[in-house]
Amino acid sequence: MTMNLKVLYSEAEIQNKIKELASKMNALYNGEEVTVICVLKGAVMFATDLVKFLDMPVQMEFIRLSSYGSSLTTSGKVNAVDIKLPDLNNKNVLIVEDIVDTGLTAKFLIDFMNMNFHVKSLKFCSLLDKKITRKVDIEPDFYGFEVDDKFVVGYGLDYDGYYRNLPYIGYKEN
Ligand code: 5GP
Repeated sequence: MTMNLKVLYSEAEIQNKIKELASKMNALYNGEEVTVICVLKGAVMFATDLVKFLDMPVQMEFIRLSSYGSSLTTSGKVNAVDIKLPDLNNKNVLIVEDIVDTGLTAKFLIDFMNMNFHVKSLKFCSLLDKKITRKVDIEPDFYGFEVDDKFVVGYGLDYDGYYRNLPYIGYKEN
């Protein structure tokens, strides 16, 4: 499984952006405890790097969703593979995703939280934002980089299960 990849965001650019995002979050939460929900598998690198720079008390939860299977386009249906969560009533909840594309996953998660809990606050953070492919009216509260309508891999994002381990984000060169 190999494809020729062009670097879109380097490791250094990603790490700098994470520090920028974390300082915005530190200012917003102002020392209040936060429950970070990492959406597996794609957000694993981003979420684990991001929390290192948060200075408030943090709890981490991991949930697993899937919408892509092994294709390059979203199926339009979100599958909750594992969404067991503790009681999040009265908690500051920060959902951390890898990329918002159609927005269906983000909408699913926000609706799920609001249906199941009375959270103190709910924020959505995505490393990448593909604004032009949006199908539902959702904007992340925080995002790292805007991307065009390209299929990107690396830094947690996969193609058919591969490339998650790359420290940078790349896309297939035509
Ligand atoms: P949405 O529900 O917003 O359409 O898609 C969200 C999910 O689709 C992401 O969490 C990610 O798993 C997957 N996804 C969307 N665009 C890309 C992409 O360019 N590359 C990869 N690897 N996954 C993507």
